[in-house]
Amino acid sequence: MNDYCFSKEKLNSEYKYVKEKLDQENLPNNIIADLNLKIATLDDIRNTFKLKTYIKNLINLPTYDKNFNYKVAQEKLNKYVSKLQHEIIKNTYEYFLGNDFKSNDEIMSFYLSKKSILTYAKETFLSIGGNSKKLDIIMGPKNNLLFLSNRIIAGLFYPYGKKGYILSYDTDNINSFCCLNHELGHYYEHCIHNLSKINDEKTFLYSEVLSIFNEHIGLDILKKHNVINDNDILEIQRCILLNNINTISNYFDLRFLVNKDNKNISEKAKIHMYKNAIEDASYYYSYIIAINFYYQYQCDPILAIKNLNHLFRKIDNNNEEKVLKESDIDISSNVLKKHLNKLKRNN
Ligand SMILES: [Zn+2]
Repeated sequence: MNDYCFSKEKLNSEYKYVKEKLDQENLPNNIIADLNLKIATLDDIRNTFKLKTYIKNLINLPTYDKNFNYKVAQEKLNKYVSKLQHEIIKNTYEYFLGNDFKSNDEIMSFYLSKKSILTYAKETFLSIGGNSKKLDIIMGPKNNLLFLSNRIIAGLFYPYGKKGYILSYDTDNINSFCCLNHELGHYYEHCIHNLSKINDEKTFLYSEVLSIFNEHIGLDILKKHNVINDNDILEIQRCILLNNINTISNYFDLRFLVNKDNKNISEKAKIHMYKNAIEDASYYYSYIIAINFYYQYQCDPILAIKNLNHLFRKIDNNNEEKVLKESDIDISSNVLKKHLNKLKRNN
């Protein structure tokens, strides 16, 4: 019997409770928005019980966007991607080209018992400065906020008020460990955010930083317990690298397409859903920032945690470059370059 699952009864009673609250009169708009978001989240989670739906949720189908139009796509790009972010993406892309980072996926199926996965994931969360009470909330068995299932191929984090729900891949291997750490990284970010702060659009590309960072820290925890060695770490890091960067070409395609005033190209553009392309950019960009924090952590964990908390609490649409500097992020990407040199096979 799996102790880590969402309880239908609990979800239904939560749903009822939120609905009742929403029915009260004279609620301020922000509360209404918050309650509606909760309803949508609960709907989403309740759907995950239907196998077909949740497989659909997790597979990226090549999406045909009937309403694709240049102006909207251009607007989205301008809204969600800052100039600085675009420069960093553009300037680092060549580092990846022509280099052999080919990963050996076998390492991801390396056996790790479920008990170990949970134990080491908890240790990872605490070692990045996660709050132990918050950890107990999400990882307490039968709290019904963490759902481990082998019926899915990836994980999901659903923010929910001050807590959150995690759906994570469940097989006794390193892949599941990385998946859980990834989602716990999202939860960590959710915990340190000032909840009253509305996310600014141009910080969207940072949304995977803490999850990717936490995946890397998890590997060091496994090494500390002699589960894997330095070589294994490099192999797994290559897998993480490719997972996060290999769809960035969609972003460049979209950039290229919206700049061309050509009907034929417009047809082609229809298969690139701009939302996905921007999401692809978020994995790529977040990877770069996460690697920075990872190396900071190797030198001085306390300072690294301080810096990443600073970044996530302070960054907004108007102060990006300043906050990146204050958090000691190398925007000239030398840190990334060094890391990639380590991961290259052909050196
Ligand atoms: Zn993620």
